[in-house]
Amino acid sequence: MTITIALSKGRIFEETLPLLAAAGITPLEDPESSRKLILPTNRADVRLIIVRASDVPTYVQYGAADIGVAGKDVLNEHGGIGLYQPLDLNIARCRMMVAVRDDFDYESAVRQGARLRVATKYVQTARDHFAAKGVHVDLIKLYGSMELAPLVGLSDAIVDLVSSGGTLKANNLKAVEHIADISSRLVVNQAALKLKHDAIQPILDAFALAIKS
Ligand code: ATP
Ligand code: MG
Repeated sequence: MTITIALSKGRIFEETLPLLAAAGITPLEDPESSRKLILPTNRADVRLIIVRASDVPTYVQYGAADIGVAGKDVLNEHGGIGLYQPLDLNIARCRMMVAVRDDFDYESAVRQGARLRVATKYVQTARDHFAAKGVHVDLIKLYGSMELAPLVGLSDAIVDLVSSGGTLKANNLKAVEHIADISSRLVVNQAALKLKHDAIQPILDAFALAIKS
């Protein structure tokens, strides 16, 4: 029985490596240098697949991967259908924020009930956030470089992930609202957890033990 683990390249892969090691799993190739999308590991029964961060929940939902690691940002957008989310791995930590241009008076715009134009990759998150506040927004879907939108008049505000705040600062933007703390979660296909329980449970246990709190 093979266990397939879905990961994205970059910070999630790097920060998941020590957790995999704790479960006795070592990739035999580095996704940064290999062009392979299916990576073997030291264990004949465990393989990794490398997918786009926002696609991890989809692979696990449909059982193409048994286990995955996905940011809470991505899980909020996906909705989490069919996914068991047993562990907050406490990795890839950042914050979901609303940001505007340095010279934009966000408080009065909101107070005056102005219709805000908000550009974001996180349409569902943004919709939920502003609906809960009773703020009317026009959402503009982007796929990256959200920081540019307020600078060229595409939007009044953006909803984006912030860690150090360096990118906002470099682009004369300021964070005006904190929507949520974000970290990555372990996601497991619910059917796989039952059918492959004896293989999957030890991996979950090893991850749980290795998590930094
Ligand atoms: P892609 O670049 O393929 O569109 P992505 O930008 O979502 O995907 P990453 O930048 O690797 O991919 O982010 C993966 C996950 O890491 C995100 O879903 C989020 O949970 C987290 N993350 C994103 N930006 C940061 C950050 N600046 N600091 C810490 N964690 C972050
Ligand atoms: Mg990115």
